[in-house]
Amino acid sequence: MGKITGFLEFDRKIEAYEPVEERLKDYKEFTIPLPEKEMKEQGARCMDCGIPFCHSGCPLGNLIPDFNDAVYRSKWEKASEILHSTNNFPEFTGRLCPAPCEEACVLGINEDPVTIENIEKNIVETAFKKGWITAKPPLNKTGKKVAVVGSGPAGLATAQQLNRAGHDVTVFERDEKPGGLMRYGIPDFKMEKNVIDRRLDVLKEEGITFKCGVHIGVDIKADTLKEEYDAIVLTGGATIRRNLPIEGSDLKGVVQAMDFLGQNNRRVDGIKDLGEEIKATGKDVVVIGGGDTGSDCIGTSFRHGATSVSNFEIMPMATTERPEGQPWPFWPMRLRTSSSHKEGAERFFSISTKKFIGDADGNLKGLITSEVEWINIPGQRPQLKEVPGTEKEWKCELALLALGFTGSENTVASQLGLEMDARTNIKASENDYKTNVAGVFAAGDQRRGQSLIVWAISEGRQAAHHVDKYLMGETALPLKGEGDLPRV
Ligand SMILES: Cc1cc2nc3c(=O)[nH]c(=O)nc-3n(C[C@H](O)[C@H](O)[C@H](O)COP(=O)(O)OP(=O)(O)OC[C@H]3O[C@@H](n4cnc5c(N)ncnc54)[C@H](O)[C@@H]3O)c2cc1C
Ligand code: SF4
Repeated sequence: MGKITGFLEFDRKIEAYEPVEERLKDYKEFTIPLPEKEMKEQGARCMDCGIPFCHSGCPLGNLIPDFNDAVYRSKWEKASEILHSTNNFPEFTGRLCPAPCEEACVLGINEDPVTIENIEKNIVETAFKKGWITAKPPLNKTGKKVAVVGSGPAGLATAQQLNRAGHDVTVFERDEKPGGLMRYGIPDFKMEKNVIDRRLDVLKEEGITFKCGVHIGVDIKADTLKEEYDAIVLTGGATIRRNLPIEGSDLKGVVQAMDFLGQNNRRVDGIKDLGEEIKATGKDVVVIGGGDTGSDCIGTSFRHGATSVSNFEIMPMATTERPEGQPWPFWPMRLRTSSSHKEGAERFFSISTKKFIGDADGNLKGLITSEVEWINIPGQRPQLKEVPGTEKEWKCELALLALGFTGSENTVASQLGLEMDARTNIKASENDYKTNVAGVFAAGDQRRGQSLIVWAISEGRQAAHHVDKYLMGETALPLKGEGDLPRV
């Protein structure tokens, strides 16, 4: 696979970024692609390693050495076919996936791993540019009707697979447009909305119906939907945000990250009448929470023109190396620094926010923190302890709460009598994605809790296989890593 001596000849190289001062001028993507010759050299670094552990690192089971080899040999159309055989939307994962495959790459044991994610992005972008990605409507129809509730990556993958199997698929979305968190959570500087729209055009041409601005459970009762469709797939995400119930959390200027990101993404998407503006312009901003959501708040705040952006994380700073006990090929919990962090944010670890401080008019003007340490007690969960004498006051006019999500909403679940799991997600087995109600399936974050796009696509594909089997008694839709989408 690749060039047999490629990994000895070529160093790892990925696309560059535009300088910070340039990219902060707008919300556009700011990566500078490698020239084709260098992309091929990156494909050539894939070794003939025998057992491609990268396959198991990828939740989709992408056939990585095969597409690396095709890129090395300039067979871009072939590479695109291989890639699309296991992944409906490589343009999403090629931009946004944290690439667990690269952590499992055999070359990564003692060298820099192959740039799998970036190769994936270049394959799909070449394919779109060359016009190889076209609608492939089903050849035969089954007459069965499927409702997909939620249009994030899980819903879109489920819909495309089930449409390919010949079913009539309708996707219901309560937001203004389809895309889920990819549209109204993740900012354009990570993935521009035209990348989603370009794929939606293909899905619509293939025959999938999208009904936006329809909140299932509110506008249409879930049991009505159940009567009208042969199967329902719930892909509504895990949307319940974690709060920070401390003194002052009701002050004006303490804002949930998703309100801030949701409004900004809608503004960038051209939507008007967004209510009171939430802006970071000219403010000292504190982003509380160190994950993807926190990072996206940082990049957005800088684009608003924030005076300063600080990022608090309650956990200690991880190392950049693999921690002991998390050996290759497993996903390691190491320090990750995003492009947004590099735009000028100051990061603080082992820090806890104790209180927000307001002015006489109820506006946030600062907050109080203390340092914390985690005490490990054998047999118990680590315990959080405040370090005495470390209280500190910070100036802050906008505090963004990016504390994660606690589970999925239960309106639809309760209308259908669905069981929830201990983490308040819809209970459905990973073996068949079936809920306790016949004909109702769940996939993506709504089943597994807040996760990743690659997992959502993977679950959407798996669920489609089981829905088709439920409807038809058999299915040709592939499972993880099987590739080769059938034409029905
Ligand atoms: C700010 C942020 C940044 C992220 N960045 C990354 C990243 O860089 N890389 C990555 O891999 N992952 C990232 N993630 C996680 C990723 O976005 C999610 O794991 C993924 O989108 C989950 O897909 P999903 O289809 O399950 O659900 P979602 O994308 O959450 O989509 C669910 C959709 O269902 C709709 N819906 C819900 N209930 C109903 C209803 N009753 N009726 C109609 N519609 C309904 C919602 O409006 C929503 O559009 C990020 C998450 C956030 C919040
Ligand atoms: S989808 Fe993610 S894990 Fe899978 S090959 Fe692409 S970058 Fe790697």
